[in-house]
Amino acid sequence: MKELWELPPGRIRKGEVILTLGWPLTTKEFGGSWMYGAKDNLVSLGYVTSLEYADPRTDPQRVLQEFKKHPLVAELLQGGKLVRYGAKTVPYGGWYALPQLAGSGWMIVGDSAGFLNAQRLKGIHLAIKSGMLAAETAFEALLAANFSAAKLQDFQLKVNASWIKDELWRVRNFHQGFANGLLSGILHTGLQELTGGRGLYEVYPAHAGHERMKHLDELPADGGERAQILGKAKGDGKLTFDKLTDLYHSGTKHEEDQPSHLIIHDTNICNTRCVTEFGNPCQNFCPANVYEMVETTETTSGKTIHLNPSNCVHCKTCDIMDPYQIITWVPPEGGGGPNYDGM
Ligand code: SF4
Repeated sequence: MKELWELPPGRIRKGEVILTLGWPLTTKEFGGSWMYGAKDNLVSLGYVTSLEYADPRTDPQRVLQEFKKHPLVAELLQGGKLVRYGAKTVPYGGWYALPQLAGSGWMIVGDSAGFLNAQRLKGIHLAIKSGMLAAETAFEALLAANFSAAKLQDFQLKVNASWIKDELWRVRNFHQGFANGLLSGILHTGLQELTGGRGLYEVYPAHAGHERMKHLDELPADGGERAQILGKAKGDGKLTFDKLTDLYHSGTKHEEDQPSHLIIHDTNICNTRCVTEFGNPCQNFCPANVYEMVETTETTSGKTIHLNPSNCVHCKTCDIMDPYQIITWVPPEGGGGPNYDGM
């Protein structure tokens, strides 16, 4: 989750970087923030909530709003103004989570392939390098008039021989080390630093994030220690904002009458099982209020799912985090989406 703020002059230097770990998440979740000073008194501010939390009521947009209430952050932002808002999933899996990089007639580069240094939370340099290597491979394929899977596998070999692998190999188990929370994650990170990225195991066990979501009846009704990150943010309109106010600042636009680019393969599950098992977490993890449960007399739960696809900021969280894996996100027609000017 990201916001761009314009601050009174002198608050943060251009190029100044502040990173934090943990709060307002508890020690059982993994996540952290960034604040980057930019030109013209702008600050890029964001909070990454790792999509492997247990409580389906967790709302990453709320997490960012709570983070801004920390006295040091609130003081930095005081008197400033929200300029932009956006959200995107971050491919945090690391080297072992990279997909096959090439096949017959195609290569996959950048963020789409998962070229991201999870420890440094940086991927632009890796995206550029992977694009350069793919371009070299494509040029050689053009000269040979050969676009077969065997020929384009050269891209994988070039990646393996480049500094992309050197960099990602040293942090290959970083994210997986935090599977049991912040404290053990810090311990694993220390071990990985000492052993060139290996740590306790050569390949740490990994699970899809949505598999870690628990049923509501396994969790404290009042949220327990997680209460401050659950449910929708209300916002005070100055420092913190509700989701729709934030969404307005994303500049999102779509053709209102286009076919929905969000496909729920079985809405019956949303209206029955998910209501009782998970409390419809799509309402929480979606940063753009696309999913709403509205009252009805037509289902046994008294609720039915309603979609607002024109709100979508294309973060792809729903495709990944839905606990039943019945949502498919496809690109909308007509080139609509958020306007991330300056982001
Ligand atoms: Fe993100 Fe899905 Fe919501 Fe669109 S509908 S903003 S892709 S979670």
